Amino acid sequence: THFGFETVKLAEKQAKVDDVFHKVAGRYDLMNDLMSAGLHRAWKSALLTTLNPAKDRPFHHLDVAGGTGDVAFAVLEAGGPETDVTVLDINAEMLAVGRDRADKRFPGDDRIRFVQGNAEELRLPDNHFDAYTIAFGIRNVPRIDKALAEAYRVLKRGGRFLCLEFSHVDVPLLDKVYEAYSFNVIPPMGKMVTGEAEPYQYLVESIRKFPKPQAFAGMIEDAGFRRAKFTPMTGGVVALHSGWKL
Ligand code: SAM
Repeated sequence: THFGFETVKLAEKQAKVDDVFHKVAGRYDLMNDLMSAGLHRAWKSALLTTLNPAKDRPFHHLDVAGGTGDVAFAVLEAGGPETDVTVLDINAEMLAVGRDRADKRFPGDDRIRFVQGNAEELRLPDNHFDAYTIAFGIRNVPRIDKALAEAYRVLKRGGRFLCLEFSHVDVPLLDKVYEAYSFNVIPPMGKMVTGEAEPYQYLVESIRKFPKPQAFAGMIEDAGFRRAKFTPMTGGVVALHSGWKL
């Protein structure tokens, strides 16, 4: 049936994504710095400025597709003693790298926990979290609408959804430079550092296929979030999306 075919395609997409991150986990942080020329740090820091976690009261944070922990660590640093962060990722290898980094940066700190799970089906309680973040993760999830519905479910009323994702460059000239960089620099650079070009081919294609920011904001509203808005950064290379559960 058509339904069966769709299900197989979606499972194939997830399997491909899992294979990519399984292969690159050990070099993921290095690749991030190389491929974005360090810009991913600035994008994540903009995410944190917008999030501005409470310091003087309990703040339950969920970082989905949290990988090696960058966003979670920044939330811990910006938050207070009653901040706790759940890092959720589907990939055990990425989480293992994240756990090692956490042990070094926050030894003995029990405000952070790592959970293996799927963004489409969170095994987490309703109405619990003050904020949900997903950085460069939602593009990899086969059923984005399911992930958004789950984000909405686990957030408290008044909770905030924030998503950093690659977007669409619409600055003349920069678009040409970005396209050339994506197709001619990223895959060979990936091959040089990890021995494989294919995962990086996938990366570039998945960015192209991701919805335009206006359309993605519409999906966020369809999931029930209010005041959906987005801020393009670096000429539209990345966009920061925000929504509220009100
Ligand atoms: N958020 C981190 C960062 O910004 O550095 C990691 C981003 S990395 C590009 C994408 C992550 O999404 C990978 O760690 C991958 O395992 C995870 N991922 C892919 N599909 C997922 C899913 N269905 N549910 C949860 N995580 C998923």
